[in-house]
Amino acid sequence: MSSRKSTGNLQISSHKIKDLAYEPLGMPTERVIRLNAQYTQNNPEYSDRKEIIRHLITPAELLIKTRKPARSPFAKPEHHGQADIYAYSRQRMVKEQLIARGINDENVLRAMAAVPRHLFVNEALYPTAYEDRPLPIACGQTISQPYTVALMCQMLMAEKGMKILEIGTGSGYQAAVLREMGLKVFSVERIKELYTHTKEFLTAKLGYHDMQLFLSDGTLGLELFAPYDRIIVAAGGPAIPEALKNQLADNGIMLIPVGKEKMSQNLIRVFKLGGSCRKENLGATTFVDLIGKQGW
Ligand code: SAH
Repeated sequence: MSSRKSTGNLQISSHKIKDLAYEPLGMPTERVIRLNAQYTQNNPEYSDRKEIIRHLITPAELLIKTRKPARSPFAKPEHHGQADIYAYSRQRMVKEQLIARGINDENVLRAMAAVPRHLFVNEALYPTAYEDRPLPIACGQTISQPYTVALMCQMLMAEKGMKILEIGTGSGYQAAVLREMGLKVFSVERIKELYTHTKEFLTAKLGYHDMQLFLSDGTLGLELFAPYDRIIVAAGGPAIPEALKNQLADNGIMLIPVGKEKMSQNLIRVFKLGGSCRKENLGATTFVDLIGKQGW
């Protein structure tokens, strides 16, 4: 059962999971905590769900802040008081790595030119942040090379205002690019350290108060806010998780690396039409492992 409510520019569903009815918006924190405790006591096996419910406190807090019109934190050439000395490298990256290789979606190019990729990696790596290669982030994970991020964004064929679910928040770089493209971003990360760090970085440091970040197993999607117009998966699994197919809206598009062996996948684009999914193979690629109930 779900009913739709409109709050500002965001649509939120209120759902019922296992006899627990709750509303994401406007619920007092103490009540959420009490319901959580009650829920954990009654359903110890549903600890993943508990995480989701716990983090529902966040969207409510964030939505209050978004009443102000959201503007790009990168609108000014300075970030937290520092001159952006990488602006030139970023422009070159867009021209030489993206436009030269066929990225022509203006919205994608604008977003890639706006997001300061260097801020998403360790300071020691700042000078390499605009090179044509993936970069390591914490917990043994990686951000894809700029071309792959841009290609995936272009292949999504997304329109402004669409709701997108990203699996694998990681550093938050791809999420920030999607947000700069004008999408409503819901992003899930399974590693607590990355989730905590990235959430703090995106909200407190960069001022993106309108991105919804969750700590949970993304192979199960994010049922609470489904369906999604677009789904993008930043890690490769052995098959397309059923949960993600189910949570994709009709006429929706999903991009997911799929491979029978770890670290070697094909990038698959899924078109959902009339309830059934058609797959298109976009070619060989390499992503980190998608780990979870419907992954490795
Ligand atoms: N989009 C990220 C890429 C990070 S690498 C960025 O721009 O930085 C892929 C991420 O997927 C890793 O952080 C990894 O922890 C995460 N991941 C792997 N399996 C996952 C799962 N089942 N649910 C959520 N995140 C997952």
